[in-house]
Amino acid sequence: MNFFSTRGGGPVSLDEALRKGIASDGGLYLPEQLPKFALADFVDANTMPEVATILLRPFFVASALKNDLQQIVAETFSFPIPTTRLPIAGQDVSMLELYHGPTAAFKDVGAGFLAACLSRLEGNVESPLTILVATSGDTGGAVAAAFDKRPGMRVVVLFPDGRVSDRQAHQLCCWSDNVLSLKVQGAFDDCQALVKAAMSDPALSAEHRFSSANSINIGRLLPQCTYYAQASLLHHRRTGKMPGFIVPTGNLGNASACIMAREMGLPVGPIIFATNSNRTIVDYFDSLEWLPRDSLQTLASAMDVGDPSNMERLRHLIGEADVLREQVTVSSVDDEQIGAAIKQDFAEFGFATCPHTATASHVWRQLAIDQTESHDWILVATAHPAKFETIVEPLIGEAVALPPELEEILSRPAHSISIEPNLDSLATALQGQ
Ligand SMILES: *Cc1c(COP(=O)(O)O)cnc(C)c1O
Repeated sequence: MNFFSTRGGGPVSLDEALRKGIASDGGLYLPEQLPKFALADFVDANTMPEVATILLRPFFVASALKNDLQQIVAETFSFPIPTTRLPIAGQDVSMLELYHGPTAAFKDVGAGFLAACLSRLEGNVESPLTILVATSGDTGGAVAAAFDKRPGMRVVVLFPDGRVSDRQAHQLCCWSDNVLSLKVQGAFDDCQALVKAAMSDPALSAEHRFSSANSINIGRLLPQCTYYAQASLLHHRRTGKMPGFIVPTGNLGNASACIMAREMGLPVGPIIFATNSNRTIVDYFDSLEWLPRDSLQTLASAMDVGDPSNMERLRHLIGEADVLREQVTVSSVDDEQIGAAIKQDFAEFGFATCPHTATASHVWRQLAIDQTESHDWILVATAHPAKFETIVEPLIGEAVALPPELEEILSRPAHSISIEPNLDSLATALQGQ
């Protein structure tokens, strides 16, 4: 199967789309068509790797990785992703727990898949592929964890010093020799600008083989379709119904994967995007005008996006706002509502939720009676609350226990190098490794 850019460029192979991340014309890669599945295709598939192997096979038919697919999905889905019933009387509502991976957020799935693919395609011990990643928090940790110790690959993480939480900083700085952690004396935007500058600098690019593990790489979306497929299939088998999904949404990656799963014929019912106070998508659905803007800081910081780049994919795949809003709903949740939802989740579910997940539980509580009567719902939990303990613990009035994978990471020694936000400092740091 070939891949095309949303701006018309292509065709390229899956392998090239994975390698390049973003198309030369600035667009995002999409498969030429989405395969269509019948429920019968999955009768023998139960586990996440089994579902992934069937779902992803059509994308890999012409790939050099074709024969590695089973191994790649086994590496990607090496941790559990359970869908857990919530103790709510009279309703069938569950939580899709995407936070049991090495860095306790759903980004571990996309990063793990990309690492499994790229290390096979591009790993070279003589001249390692250098993955540059600018991060404001979760992405850098997931990418570092996924590429950690992979021969022929190295990762350079750039994060804004003092602007990520202590636990997040630790997750960015506790890896082995093939991960270089740089705390940039600047803001996230400086980190992003440095990555772009390095990748387009002829001298530096001649010296290093650069690539990026940007969140718009199609290699992060494809594996994410798997958990929507598996959760909906198991629910459908259990109840005969197609569950609705409420997806905490920032850059629209996770939400696009949910829509793609439904487009491919999986039994996914209604889809609701839950955003924070960054209202770009809500306003687009209301006014039919796409007006990206600067992001606002909220409690759900990993969703602080004012210009969600995957909208370009959705418009290409589904249509403009007038078409899109017939197929999905979007609801904005402010910080006060997030705080209230964290408290209420703790009281009703018996466990804490993270601020991002709380946008979904707030939206679920606001559903009209006919929506809860006509559909079962699955709330998507995007991160473990222990990653955001400074927000969650005061609200619930007790400590959140660390999951074992996070505890292990936080017990490792951390090391990083401080750099000024300019290309010379970055070049020196790259040299020093
Ligand atoms: C990245 C992230 C999100 C937003 O996901 P998108 O794919 O960007 O919409 C939500 N929650 C958490 C915890 C995240 O790390």
